Amino acid sequence: MWSHSIPAVLVLATALSLGSYLGTRDRALALLVGAITISHIVADYATGAKPTWPGGPVIGLNLYSHAPLDFLLESAVVSAGWVIYRRSLPAHAARKQLAWLLLVALVGMQLLGALDLAFLPRTPKCM
Ligand SMILES: [Zn+2]
Repeated sequence: MWSHSIPAVLVLATALSLGSYLGTRDRALALLVGAITISHIVADYATGAKPTWPGGPVIGLNLYSHAPLDFLLESAVVSAGWVIYRRSLPAHAARKQLAWLLLVALVGMQLLGALDLAFLPRTPKCM
């Protein structure tokens, strides 16, 4: 549970950024690695309820307890990622059905996850 606390994430982001920099000497890559590491906890605060620091409050929107809202938010996020990815493709590849099939698969996985959250009993990871 403390692995998702703010101090633990900052230590992990620093370590991964430093490791990336030492391995590549690419400052932009090191910053990107740190930002991605920190973005994970931001997403976790939307989907769950996570500790802030030892002894501190547990915060989060806990969308995993509200499957339809979680589905809408996560589908929006993966759709935005798909749009960005699709723009990186050559025009002929972006128009292919396979590109659209990727979006269907990504949103379909979100739907399966939402159905799982809504209908299968589970033990909460945090709280
Ligand atoms: Zn997490």
